[in-house]
Amino acid sequence: MKIFDSLIENNDIKKTLGAAIYNSAFSHAYIIEGAPGTGKRTIARLAAAAIICKNRDSGNLPCGVCPTCKKILNDNCVDVRLVEITKVEQARELKARLYDSTVECDYKIYIITDAQKMNIKAQNALLISLEEPPKNVVFFILTTDAGALLETIRSRAQILRTNRLSSRTIYDYIRKNRPDIKTDDEKLQSVIMASGGSLGYAMDMADAKSSDMILQKRSKALELTSALLTNDADAVAFLSSFSTSARDEIKESIALSLDILGDLMALKRDRGAATYFFSSADDAEEIISRYSLLKLTQVYDALCVALNDLNSNASSGAVLISILISSARKGK
Ligand SMILES: [Zn+2]
Repeated sequence: MKIFDSLIENNDIKKTLGAAIYNSAFSHAYIIEGAPGTGKRTIARLAAAAIICKNRDSGNLPCGVCPTCKKILNDNCVDVRLVEITKVEQARELKARLYDSTVECDYKIYIITDAQKMNIKAQNALLISLEEPPKNVVFFILTTDAGALLETIRSRAQILRTNRLSSRTIYDYIRKNRPDIKTDDEKLQSVIMASGGSLGYAMDMADAKSSDMILQKRSKALELTSALLTNDADAVAFLSSFSTSARDEIKESIALSLDILGDLMALKRDRGAATYFFSSADDAEEIISRYSLLKLTQVYDALCVALNDLNSNASSGAVLISILISSARKGK
């Protein structure tokens, strides 16, 4: 049986969700959580088609070729609705039309995108729909952060998490499926490494003419990481090159730096580990051999704290100082 054939990796989701749909034992609400560009919408679309498709004899789920599947997979089916809810009125409107009959399918499916943007009032209004949905309604709630949803919503849905993809997987996918992306290998690799395991982001960036900007960001993050790992004087000099008002720029560098350190820690433990920033263990060889796992972990932890502080609105200057203090701990 081919389940969600066009979805790359995410094997856990293919297995649980695919089997549930195949056995008609699916739940009426799913939360799909994952970083941007990791396939949340693709999964919801495929699942919607799989639930509705009546042509499963071939053993494919969904068949992908019947008119209904085609409509759904092209976001063209009136009974499969992509909705963005930010305000309470939108959630109420959804509720008001919940019991309207379907137009052409046996099921009505709501795919709610960017659910982390719903305010509390909107979430409470949506909750009413989740509490007593008609039998033929299924919700897919897509979010980068399930923690941003009310516990009462989370407890009424099954939570599925998408995986970040390794650089190798993304590279192979783009070269095989996107002949229109003609970016040369070196640039494409850099774009992929800066994508943080997000296929969607990598394709957007490779398509646009923004790979030079990405190369710059990437080298800045590498500089930041080695400054923090090597010595305090370098780190002070480097961190002072950030303008303290450039919060987003600092956050972006820290996030990339966490990818770098995450790769290094994984490679320390297992040379064959999947990487997100480096294209392979060989690329990172020199830097891995220079630092202990303990040192890498210390800097990683310091950056996690810093990123958290920045997210909760601490001043950028204070955060930069706290990174310095925490990473100044001795040891290599
Ligand atoms: Zn079909």
